[in-house]
Amino acid sequence: MFTRGSRRRRSARSAPEAEDPERGQPCQACGEQCPGFLVHGWRKICQHCKCGREEHAAGGAPPHLERLLSRLVADCQPPPASDDDSGCASEEYAWVPPGLKPEQVYQFFSCLPEDKVPYVNSPGERYRVRQLLHQLPPHDSEAQYCNGLAEEERRELKLFAQQRKRENLGRGAARPFPLTITGAICQQCGRRLGGGDMAVFAGRAGHGACWHPQCFQCATCRELLVDLVYFYQDGRLYCGRHHAETRRPRCQACDEIIFAAQCTEAEGRHWHLGHFCCFECEGPLGGRRYVMRHGRPYCCRCYQARHAEYCDACGEPIGLDQGQMAYEGQHWHARPGCFCCAGCGRPLLGQPFLPRGGQLFCSRPCAQRPPPRPPRGLLPAILGGRPPPGPGRGAPLPPGGAPPPLHARAGGGPAPPRPRPHGPAPGPPKHALVPYDLCTVTPAPGAALGPPQPPPPFDPAAPSGRGPGLNKGAVPQ
Ligand SMILES: [Zn+2]
Ligand SMILES: [Zn+2]
Ligand SMILES: [Zn+2]
Ligand SMILES: [Zn+2]
Ligand SMILES: [Zn+2]
Ligand SMILES: [Zn+2]
Ligand SMILES: [Zn+2]
Ligand SMILES: [Zn+2]
Repeated sequence: MFTRGSRRRRSARSAPEAEDPERGQPCQACGEQCPGFLVHGWRKICQHCKCGREEHAAGGAPPHLERLLSRLVADCQPPPASDDDSGCASEEYAWVPPGLKPEQVYQFFSCLPEDKVPYVNSPGERYRVRQLLHQLPPHDSEAQYCNGLAEEERRELKLFAQQRKRENLGRGAARPFPLTITGAICQQCGRRLGGGDMAVFAGRAGHGACWHPQCFQCATCRELLVDLVYFYQDGRLYCGRHHAETRRPRCQACDEIIFAAQCTEAEGRHWHLGHFCCFECEGPLGGRRYVMRHGRPYCCRCYQARHAEYCDACGEPIGLDQGQMAYEGQHWHARPGCFCCAGCGRPLLGQPFLPRGGQLFCSRPCAQRPPPRPPRGLLPAILGGRPPPGPGRGAPLPPGGAPPPLHARAGGGPAPPRPRPHGPAPGPPKHALVPYDLCTVTPAPGAALGPPQPPPPFDPAAPSGRGPGLNKGAVPQ
């Protein structure tokens, strides 16, 4: 049943392309590389460059978005009465807080960073449109923006949207803090708001609650709440997107809230059952091994073709089924011939090492007198049974064994400067934080590391692989 629903979902398309306001717009992130926005059949991204719609928004807010916004906030309590409610403080802004006099509008915007002030045709206006698209996804509230919802899902979405509107949605009211009151504390930064300061009030948060204009932010994304539209929940302000996600999982592939009874869960993220497929070729991943990269699952073939790392020692790609070591952006095969001391060839797997100048050493003597590295092809021969030669042998390691893994030191500040050995000047201080410290490295988390893990037992409640690396998707029943 779910499979059928998913298939229908896959084949449906969103708004008719002719009406797509972003169609053909260049991508702000990709520039020339993207020939222009063309919406993917069911993901809410550009078919060409795979960036989101937000990246392609240009000019003012598309009319459909403004209409959606006014439908959304239609029932919100109106801003406090004012002698001038037209909001037409100036033609120079794409949006102004309603109910303010022109000089108050200026005072309000002077609190915000310059590049977030929505002057017409400015970076601030583009920021506003981006935020409208991102913070208030139309598909979170209206079925017409979703991909072929089943009847039941459609009903659920409607209830979901109605309930959030009834219980959480509000629109901040900007007005100067009354001069007659001594002041109040901003709910976000804890600093004082004095009489005459511009403040934002949120009815849902209670009578006295107020914020600096620049502090009226979403608790999750920490961005300004676009047009002061907020959702209030458990003492916090959220944008629409992040509030919805406190209630229901969002599909990582199509960006819609999931109302189906089952979904795929992997690494703390969720997908519609039919949407758990390779980000590149869209082959289904249920029951197959996959690799997660930046929250997107790939089939092994596509991952290998696009994102395989190359071994710093032998220069060959590191296969998904091969162990991999990673350190400071460098990668090696996790085998003795590749992950070894650049001085003496001693294998470093599971051993402490000294990084220097982009190379790894087993000991201080090796690091200080690095002999020329033997040709790569010779390394395995050297290691073939004979003890490693050279002065690095037997170098004492600090008492107590290996120091903590590198990530534990990341915030520890630079090590005290040490004299450099004679000889050619070392390259850029790639490992400036740990020039002479012993380090250990563990197989890097994230993409494609380590041997394949046994597929997890099938569990319909939480189908899919867990943990980093190669995973196996579950087959929905
Ligand atoms: Zn792009
Ligand atoms: Zn694009
Ligand atoms: Zn504040
Ligand atoms: Zn947010
Ligand atoms: Zn989906
Ligand atoms: Zn693929
Ligand atoms: Zn290698
Ligand atoms: Zn060595």
